[in-house]
Amino acid sequence: MTIQKAQQSRRENVDFDNLVFGKEMSDHMFAMDFRDGVWGDSHILPYGEVGMALSLSALHYGQSVFEGMKAFWGADGKVRVFRPRDHYKRLMRSCERMCIPQFDYDHFISAIRTLMELDRTWIPKERGKSLYIRPVVFAIDYSLGLKPSLSYRFAILTSPMGYYYPEGMKPVKLMTSGEYVRAVRGGVGDVKTAGNYAASMLPFKEAHEQGFSQILWLNAHDNATIEEAGVMNVFFVINSVLITPALSGSILPGITRDSVLALAREKGMIVEERAITIQEVFDAGHIGKLQEAFGTGTAAVIAPIGLIHHDGNEMNINNNKIGPMTEMFYYDMTAIQYGEKEDYLGWCEIV
Ligand SMILES: *Cc1c(COP(=O)(O)O)cnc(C)c1O
Repeated sequence: MTIQKAQQSRRENVDFDNLVFGKEMSDHMFAMDFRDGVWGDSHILPYGEVGMALSLSALHYGQSVFEGMKAFWGADGKVRVFRPRDHYKRLMRSCERMCIPQFDYDHFISAIRTLMELDRTWIPKERGKSLYIRPVVFAIDYSLGLKPSLSYRFAILTSPMGYYYPEGMKPVKLMTSGEYVRAVRGGVGDVKTAGNYAASMLPFKEAHEQGFSQILWLNAHDNATIEEAGVMNVFFVINSVLITPALSGSILPGITRDSVLALAREKGMIVEERAITIQEVFDAGHIGKLQEAFGTGTAAVIAPIGLIHHDGNEMNINNNKIGPMTEMFYYDMTAIQYGEKEDYLGWCEIV
């Protein structure tokens, strides 16, 4: 791996007390290109612009996939990356679906290790903050031909972050959309590819204008079964049972979702991965059995859901307060991530 260090760090210019998600990038980035049928040398470079011709394939046809993971500065001074192997596996699945050549885990983890070493001062030390790691793989042929590109770049950039939602741990409001859908079975909703997020921007903007944080997506075929919330998987606590939509092919298989399920099962909770309709959630709410709802995702970890709007009706959840189970999962997850609690499920990689 060649390493070209930044001449001057930008670290001192960044206000770590007021971090906005994805705004500030650390000093270095990683890049490795696929050309003539093989992945080439890997490089670490100062973070900055990458030159491109306007015919860059990914720009036109969206052959581009990404991951989102985090590094945490632990209570013991160690840095932990959360479930990197699982993020790598999902990235490879995304590559496969988008006709992008795969590469070894060694490339992935050694790039992350080297970046964490070089940009150590960019990892926030405060509890609740972390370094967001964004691997991306995209087509770099200079061609307008509509076919899989022959060349690709795997790159990683990192960005210090605090809370994902500006409201912090305050419950978020979700709305269903009567008009738009996120994904369909057989489509690409179950992989992290650029176009999914491009397609959700207009619905997201309209939801925002009406005061909602996210859309609660329903199944495109029946417009009734709950799928997920755009950048989060969703969980409901009904009658003390933890319920999350089963992975149906159009839901992104979240690693935080998987972590919550594992923690819940460890605790002996009753867990159901199954189809759940918006009607069932509202019905449970009406009879006082809907206790809690929350979203899960790397960026937000756990986000309590305080209100759901659907088809002209609103359901308040737990008086718009964070519930005990939501809080417990947030506490357990973050305690493992910050090294305060034994990593008994083997999720953290110390770097
Ligand atoms: C990334 C993502 C999630 C959350 O996945 P995690 O692995 O928990 O970060 C959920 N839904 C969508 C659509 C996503 O892109």
